[in-house]
Amino acid sequence: RTRTVPLRPLTQPVRLQNVLYEIRGPVAARAAQLEAEGHRILKLNIGNPATFGFEAPDTILHDMIAALPMAQGYSESKGILSARRAVVSRYQDEPGFPELDVDSVYLGNGVSELIMMTLQALLDPGDEVLVPAPDYPLWTAATSLSGGTPVHYLCDETDEWNPSVEDIRSKITPRTKALVVINPNNPTGAVYSREVLEQLVELAREHSLLLMADEIYDRILYDDARHHSLATLAPDLLCLTFNGLSKTYRVAGYRAGWVAITGPRTHARGFLEGIELLASTRLCPNVPAQHAIQVAVSGHQSIEALLAPGGRLLEQRDMAWSMLNAMAGVSCVKPQGALYAFPRLDPEVHQIHDDLRLCLDLLEQEKILVVHGTGFNWPTPDHLRLVILPWATDLRAALDRLGNFLSSYRQ
Ligand code: PLP
Repeated sequence: RTRTVPLRPLTQPVRLQNVLYEIRGPVAARAAQLEAEGHRILKLNIGNPATFGFEAPDTILHDMIAALPMAQGYSESKGILSARRAVVSRYQDEPGFPELDVDSVYLGNGVSELIMMTLQALLDPGDEVLVPAPDYPLWTAATSLSGGTPVHYLCDETDEWNPSVEDIRSKITPRTKALVVINPNNPTGAVYSREVLEQLVELAREHSLLLMADEIYDRILYDDARHHSLATLAPDLLCLTFNGLSKTYRVAGYRAGWVAITGPRTHARGFLEGIELLASTRLCPNVPAQHAIQVAVSGHQSIEALLAPGGRLLEQRDMAWSMLNAMAGVSCVKPQGALYAFPRLDPEVHQIHDDLRLCLDLLEQEKILVVHGTGFNWPTPDHLRLVILPWATDLRAALDRLGNFLSSYRQ
């Protein structure tokens, strides 16, 4: 006979309260239920290229498979030397990128792990991090989880989603430690000009802020957009540049990313030792995937064909953008980079009070899965994010259905 003992309730710790990841949140959970019931859902919620037929170059798969027998053991905590060397050469090829040595590159299980690691190494309770709104929500979540306070600065839709330098300036306090810049941006698709980036760097200089540059979409650029790595404009500041294999190289499932640390470091010994310590506590990143890095970054950049005139990604970006703007009460700034559109639903026309509800209703009625704008820490319920990755026929069908749905939807 088993004895019943009272079980202590396991409640959620306070530090999880501001942690949101709506891209895989309640709408995605409901979509999974509907799929289990046999419905076909058009999923426009996750930027996961390979699952939409954007498969990785064969060479990447080949090198990873060939390395499997020798990838059985743990690697060095920072990651294998050949991959870190390849990352160094990638940046050496970029004009103006500051000096970078292999010991200043850490590999991770995706950029995600490195964002968590570096913020944990940086923050004491009450320290503030300037994070864009809208943002890729891991930045807000990881800041909160690390005990810090995310402070959102405005990216201005009326100015092509550029960061508002005035807003950033007004939010700097003595507790502000870092400025996060996501460029090209998820979710807005904005690519910042050199002039805009220079202003951000100048602010960081004035207030001695650490720069954290999430550049995971740096090679996914449309039309004549040009990407400038933030570090190239800030050789005199400590700058962490994050990138990896998930997007440009399309192997998100391998979980391979890196952070490159540049600039002066004598003032930041404690922080850098913290990164080293946390890198060793996680032992090492997934070793087989580390073997994919060298060939990916030094091989033929096959993403380019997808972005050139007639390329699949470019055509889908164009289609999504023009179909969205043709909908009554919907407007969308043309994405210049990344894999998303972030349209605005005019509040005069649509009067949405709860954008999560809207996404749930869209899913139930039209079997389309998109993410509500407030899930990206956007303050008002008037945006949606959709990925532009599905095959053109699916993308067109999804946008047709979204247009029909919005034309009669009221809250
Ligand atoms: N940063 C941004 C801006 C992203 O959009 C994503 C994934 O969508 C990540 C980081 C996480 O990337 P990884 O797969 O390398 O963890």
